[in-house]
Amino acid sequence: MYKELFDLSGRVAVVTGGGRNIGLATAMALAEHGAKVVIAEIDPKVGEEGLAALQAKGYEAELHQLDVTDSRAVTACADAVVKKYGRVDIAVANAGIALSAPGEEMPDEQWHKVVDINLNGVFYTNRAFGKHMLDAGKGSIINIGSMSGIISNYPQEQVHYNAAKAGVHHLTKSLAGEWAKRGVRVNAVAPTYIETAMTKPGMEKADWYKIWMDMTPMGRVGQPPEIAACVLFLATDAASLVTGHVLVADAGYTIW
Ligand code: NDP
Repeated sequence: MYKELFDLSGRVAVVTGGGRNIGLATAMALAEHGAKVVIAEIDPKVGEEGLAALQAKGYEAELHQLDVTDSRAVTACADAVVKKYGRVDIAVANAGIALSAPGEEMPDEQWHKVVDINLNGVFYTNRAFGKHMLDAGKGSIINIGSMSGIISNYPQEQVHYNAAKAGVHHLTKSLAGEWAKRGVRVNAVAPTYIETAMTKPGMEKADWYKIWMDMTPMGRVGQPPEIAACVLFLATDAASLVTGHVLVADAGYTIW
């Protein structure tokens, strides 16, 4: 019985920014459990590489080129997926970027870029895929938030990123409440530092890395499959009673 709860056979999943790292690991986890996976990725080259990795394992997968800041394109992507497969069961709003600048010197363009991808893009994804799920009376949306939506990182200065991720967590709870009686669950995962392209520049700065690890009870960064496993749980029927939850996978960072 419990094994069946994690079975995603016949289900259709979409992962934004699914071409690499956390997004690709998530696509892999969902596909390994039986889902057909659509990776929606802005960079065609990254997308093709992710698709090839999924197909090399024999998984049914396809690539949509998508910029999550283009709300019409996000809606078109959701409509195309439902037109082709007749359903969409799981949507993972994973696409995101991290930039850094002191608050008092933050250029408008940088503020808008981070908020546009990390918050607006998540909303567009929830709205577009959530609408089809509400029509079907079932579905699971998982937003990739961050511990940065709970604490403020140190020493890097990233008010835009932190504010956008806090917004993702509250957007998650708000939509979960709106849609709870209509069969659609909305949850988030809040990772610590995960070893990806996003954190590489910080990990290469010895002084930053030491501070990060000193502030992390487990004393290590995470790997993309450790976040994918959290998303997998929330995507499946094993989490049938879980909605509006922010699953904190932070190696203990927010304990202290
Ligand atoms: P990566 O940069 O490795 O991957 C992010 C992916 O999203 C890239 O493939 C990127 O494309 C894509 N992307 C960027 N902008 C857009 C867009 N406008 N539309 C569609 N796709 C886009 O990052 P991670 O795997 O590390 O991060 C994934 C998510 O996890 C992000 O939301 C991030 O904020 C979050 N997170 C990451 C943490 C970490 O420590 N790594 C910690 C906490 C949260 P491109 O190849 O063009 O860059």
